Amino acid sequence: MKVIVVGSSHGGYEAVRELLATHPDAEIQWYEKGDFISFLSCGMQLYLEGVVKDVNSVRYATPEGMRSQGVHVFVRQEITSISPDKHEVHVKDLAEGTERDESYDKLILSVGAVPVALPIPGNDLQNVYYMRGRDWAMKLKRATVEPTIKNVVVIGSGYIGIEAAEVFAKAGKKVTVIDILPRLLSVYLDKEFTGILTEEMAAHGVHAATGETVKEIVGKDGKVAKVVTDQAEYPAELVVEAVGVKPNTKWLADTLELNSNGTIKTDEYQRTSQPDIFAVGDATKVKFAPTDRPAQIALATNGRRQGRYAVKNLTEATQPTPAVSGSSALSVFDYHFASTGIKEGTADKFGAETQSVYVEDTYRPPFVPADQNAKVQFKLTFDPKDGRILGAQIMSKADVTANMNVISLAIQQKLTVDDLAYADFFFQPGFDRPWNIINVAAQKAQRELA
Ligand code: FAD
Repeated sequence: MKVIVVGSSHGGYEAVRELLATHPDAEIQWYEKGDFISFLSCGMQLYLEGVVKDVNSVRYATPEGMRSQGVHVFVRQEITSISPDKHEVHVKDLAEGTERDESYDKLILSVGAVPVALPIPGNDLQNVYYMRGRDWAMKLKRATVEPTIKNVVVIGSGYIGIEAAEVFAKAGKKVTVIDILPRLLSVYLDKEFTGILTEEMAAHGVHAATGETVKEIVGKDGKVAKVVTDQAEYPAELVVEAVGVKPNTKWLADTLELNSNGTIKTDEYQRTSQPDIFAVGDATKVKFAPTDRPAQIALATNGRRQGRYAVKNLTEATQPTPAVSGSSALSVFDYHFASTGIKEGTADKFGAETQSVYVEDTYRPPFVPADQNAKVQFKLTFDPKDGRILGAQIMSKADVTANMNVISLAIQQKLTVDDLAYADFFFQPGFDRPWNIINVAAQKAQRELA
């Protein structure tokens, strides 16, 4: 069997690994149009802040390592079209300037997404940057140490925008984060959390310009000079746009069925509308466990899971990809937070009826001195009809983010507040309280539902 995998990031890498493990006799061809395989944008902040020194180490695999395992790796070679009837792809060798067709028995697409560029005047000026992939990582790194860059404007306050803001604030730049929405990180956290984070960011020199719409980027001598919103103007020598991603699928529109947002339509076995063609990662949707409906949730975790399931279902569709809760975690200066599923702030978007309880506690018992006993904030969201768990958020200066994995599992398994109220979680004063904060919140939810 000859399998072609397109795209060398999370989804593609995981598909290749699973092929090696479960189809050792398959001929595997792995294509990447960029000049570097398997860069992890997830690791970009660690590189930009100097924790990881070498940009080339922020990867899963090297071409040599994969070739030594028998994978045919093609770098700077782009798949430009597919002929499903002939079971062929058209390959452009970008290095050599040549073209050829390659046949496949099975084709796995993990072609990913690219940052959305704002359709505003000035977007083509020098020093308008994005935060994705190795090339932008290297440019951003240079900008952190460029003395002429004193003011940085980040547009978009999702987790990528916030990572960018923190990087440049730590590099000593004056940072403004602009978002059209009224709160920073509002897709991830409700207001009980974002208020504190906004203060934390202000304390580190990051100004939040929320509820503002960017109208124009104004330049001087071809370079960014300021960003103009509907309410104010902000000086800027660098703009980082982080307003979302769009799937790399334009070239597939005549070949595969696409969703209205451009993602590739797949079934739960990662099969596309054409036989023997599978798709995974940011270029697809995932089944969102709280609603059991497809949603666009661009996370490496989803790409890797889908990559594996595409291979599990390669010859026979037997194992549906599990639904996901959409869990993510982030540190913002001294705070660590995580969230999963539906929040009060996203309930309307998902058409969900929700009820929530909010609790605050210390993470260890009261006798532990305050300097070693940070406050923990936790919010649990559930269905008021039957108490089914739909989502949660947690934040503290202590790292208690792993609690969110319990909630993610509870959502996937369709557990209720009754299941969590007296669930058995360990206690040790070095780590937590006799009642874990999940127990405390679920018990409160039980009282409110009674
Ligand atoms: P992509 O990563 O988009 O890669 C697609 C690859 O395919 C690219 O290399 C592209 O060049 C190649 N390609 C596309 N078309 C072709 C073609 N026609 N021919 C050949 N090659 C092609 N997720 C998390 O879960 N946790 C995190 O902490 C996290 N942090 C992140 C931080 C940042 C700054 C960013 C930008 C993203 C982060 N993500 C995180 C999201 C995660 O990086 C993405 O979900 C993931 O990269 C998606 O992987 P993918 O395989 O779908 O595609």
